[in-house]
Amino acid sequence: MKYLEIVELYDRLAGTTKRLEKAEILADFMRLHAKFGTDTSWLYLLLGRVFPEYDTRETGISRQLALKAIAYASGENEFKVQKFFTSEGDLGEVAEKFISGSKQKSLFEKEELKAMDVIETLRKISEIEGKGAVERKLDMIKGLYSRASSREALYITRTLVSDLRIGIASALVLDAIARTFFENDASARALLEEKYLMSNDIALIAGCTSVEKLSKITLQPGKPSQVMLAVKVADINEAFESCGKPAAFEQKYDGFRMLIHNAQGEISLFTRKLENVTSQFPDVVEAIQKNVYGKSFIIDSEVVGYEPKTRKYRPFEAISQRIRRKYSISELQKELPVEINVFDVLYYNGKSTMELPFQERRKLVEKIVTTKPFIIRPAIQIVTESEKEAESFYHEALDIGEEGVMIKRLDAPYRFGRYVGYMAKLKPATNDFDLVIVGAEHGTGKRAGWLTSYIVACRDGDKFVEVGRVSSGLKEKEEEGMTYEEMTKLLRKIKISEEEGIIRVEPKLVVSVTYQNIQPSPAYTSGYALRFPRITAYRPDRSTEDIASLEDMKKVFKKDK
Ligand code: ATP
Repeated sequence: MKYLEIVELYDRLAGTTKRLEKAEILADFMRLHAKFGTDTSWLYLLLGRVFPEYDTRETGISRQLALKAIAYASGENEFKVQKFFTSEGDLGEVAEKFISGSKQKSLFEKEELKAMDVIETLRKISEIEGKGAVERKLDMIKGLYSRASSREALYITRTLVSDLRIGIASALVLDAIARTFFENDASARALLEEKYLMSNDIALIAGCTSVEKLSKITLQPGKPSQVMLAVKVADINEAFESCGKPAAFEQKYDGFRMLIHNAQGEISLFTRKLENVTSQFPDVVEAIQKNVYGKSFIIDSEVVGYEPKTRKYRPFEAISQRIRRKYSISELQKELPVEINVFDVLYYNGKSTMELPFQERRKLVEKIVTTKPFIIRPAIQIVTESEKEAESFYHEALDIGEEGVMIKRLDAPYRFGRYVGYMAKLKPATNDFDLVIVGAEHGTGKRAGWLTSYIVACRDGDKFVEVGRVSSGLKEKEEEGMTYEEMTKLLRKIKISEEEGIIRVEPKLVVSVTYQNIQPSPAYTSGYALRFPRITAYRPDRSTEDIASLEDMKKVFKKDK
């Protein structure tokens, strides 16, 4: 497939805001290419990616480097290119302006750019490391530009910096697949969704043109899937209403979700963002090898940190370093040991166990996991139909410092996403939201070198809208959690622009923020502001899909009023 065809498709999709129209445009395009038996990898490009979604690698090109590449390839002055970017704010348009009519060759002489050329080159660029890496990356980008028309250069650049700007979500692609191959049938659409959440690979799904083929997609140890999520309940009664009676109650540990895969002895560890964290947790790998029986499996767990001397559990913020830190891992592992609380099993010795009722899966967990105090254990659980018993289990959990309890329906299968009635969470009401940082400002005095004040935003559909500015909660010392210094480094890497002292950054870093209350405010694009916000944790394990929505804000505001 020619890259130009994709570019024309992008333009057509960007030309309408109506979801249905977008799905139809896409379905027509797919129908045409299905006839030719075209490889479906081009769909990654449509999602603004070059790797499958289960592979969280990125092209690793910062905006600054992309600007350099545009200047280098076009022979323009870097300062001029930067200036145009500051006024336009879209690197794609910068590329379109400066790469247009590139001087090297005429259009007819150019070798036609294929979709796969773009995918493969961008994949190669992401792998370049070591000495001279920047120069080699610049040369490869220049090579691509030299074969591209100005419009192609626009989309290549947006893909390079992971900012496609045409709002194609995977759900829309699934709609289009349902239209193309399944006559828009509702049950087929549900199956598409399930298999997508299982495989996280849009090209694989698009290659399945029948229910039979779709059904053959299975879990594969080593390849991350999404996880089952919980609904919120307000009290024990609601918990029973949601999950039935009797139900299982488990402690809700304050750590982070870890999916542990064993593919014939090869252990890999994934966060719920599908990020592979195996190299950060050699202690977990060892604990699994020694204490979980089976040739192949996928288990679901919460990993919690504790103080090695006192064996007191520590809040997530304290162990989040274990996810972030990529060096001196063995020292950190001694300072911040973790315990694995296994609460589910999705796959065992060659077979999916997702369809088994939860109580059967739990029995399997108990059978295969050898309890080793402060290393690994099945999550602490009771099964009860008594409100009194459930209530006291909940209070005991709170007394020992856990966040609350999780409630699970005994006869439910494992499902990806948020299934009402399969799993619920009960915790005391707190004023907190997960939000994303979209901007930052420098501190003053002692903290002048650091970015210490952050503009945070919630979701509003595909967009992010600001809800406040937060400047407290981070730490001075690394042992206590995320420091201003570390946050500053992370923010500088994703900087988009700087104006009047405010640095704009890509919406990537998720933080948990507590606040006193919400009030209407014209100062922020959401129309609301959090009063007295404070960061309680940086959440490298969460993505912007997990953050609070504007709807959530409005609901809380109304309730408080
Ligand atoms: P959600 O995960 O439901 O979107 P959230 O991200 O705010 O919400 P929580 O409100 O903390 O997370 O609740 C769910 C999370 O609790 C799970 O994703 C899991 O990481 C954690 N958890 C702790 N203990 C358990 C347990 N025993 N069973 C299931 N999940 C548990």
